[in-house]
Amino acid sequence: MKRIPFLKPNLVRKKAYQKYLAQIDASRLYSNYGPLNSLFERRVLEEYFRSEGDLTTVNNATIGLMLAISQTKRRGGRYALMPSFTFPATPLAAMWCGLEPYFIDIRADDWCMDESVLTETLDRLGSQAACVVAYATFGTCMDLSLYESLHRTGMPVIIDAASSFGASSDGGMFGCGFSGPVVYSLHATKTFGIGEGGMVYSSDRDLIRNLRQAGNFGFSADRVSVTLGLNGKLSEYAAAIALATLDVFQEKMQTRLQISRWYVDAMTQKGLFDANWVEQKTLGTVPRQVNSFLCPPNRTNNVLIDLLREKGIEARSYFFPACHQQKTFEMFQHSGLETTEGISARVINLPTWEEMSKDDVWAVIDALAGGTAK
Ligand SMILES: *Cc1c(COP(=O)(O)O)cnc(C)c1O
Repeated sequence: MKRIPFLKPNLVRKKAYQKYLAQIDASRLYSNYGPLNSLFERRVLEEYFRSEGDLTTVNNATIGLMLAISQTKRRGGRYALMPSFTFPATPLAAMWCGLEPYFIDIRADDWCMDESVLTETLDRLGSQAACVVAYATFGTCMDLSLYESLHRTGMPVIIDAASSFGASSDGGMFGCGFSGPVVYSLHATKTFGIGEGGMVYSSDRDLIRNLRQAGNFGFSADRVSVTLGLNGKLSEYAAAIALATLDVFQEKMQTRLQISRWYVDAMTQKGLFDANWVEQKTLGTVPRQVNSFLCPPNRTNNVLIDLLREKGIEARSYFFPACHQQKTFEMFQHSGLETTEGISARVINLPTWEEMSKDDVWAVIDALAGGTAK
């Protein structure tokens, strides 16, 4: 039996970043927004954000979210409104900023926060709302127009775009042009994986300047701490790997797009969509970190995941349980969460890694089809 793991990160090899490491030996600069870090930021801004706005690296996306929430939240506010259908880093970051997560239900089609529930809740909470943290679920591209208008009219919106680096619509990177902070993760398991790392982008250059300062102990130019800061800097070693990843990122995206097409083809040909399997609705082009589907409403994801495991295939059920069902978050307030709970019990994340073959994908879908026949 061939085993198919869920993930098999394929980070750039030593050969690809040796030339950048040699520059560190020459510069003797190891951190503090050094030359490799600056080169990486400049290249990403030019190559993926049409040089519109600015961005800063961070040492991971959780720190990026904390910096972004801390720098934008409304003073005196109590709640950070966000979906419960997200990775725990989203509510944890708000808690570290002294806020209480307030969980909002998601939509059935794109699994992102339900904007009508959000708007109603914002109206009801008034000045108790400190900010909104919207999550682009599983790296999707979502419409940001409501969030842009909220942010511009004084309700800060932070986008958790942890898995979205590379996702684009109308030729532009997801998040490009957004005036609030957009936070991407460069964790090993994400599409742009370097080990640990992250980025925060905004079309608002002053906001990025503030975030960069807060990420360096809140230091002003004369090294006096002037704002609530922390150490959020990416090391030059990590920047070396990030630059080498940038050199090959177009190919990585193509590989991931191909894997998603194989999944959708295999599921179509095996009749799974006719049998009430559902794919996530998305805009634009998404080089997926993982391929996620909902099993039919009369099935339970974890039963199917056990069945795949018996066939040597490792799948997951993110986000089951959802955040509001986890101990750290169960005391927090929330809207009705029927859709969240329904999707959480049906979602299955299928194996996704760059060296997967078409046969591997078909083996996964054959196993699923066998398990859901009848
Ligand atoms: C991965 C992820 C994070 C955390 O990113 P790190 O870089 O590992 O801190 C935050 N939010 C979501 C939705 C994620 O998927």
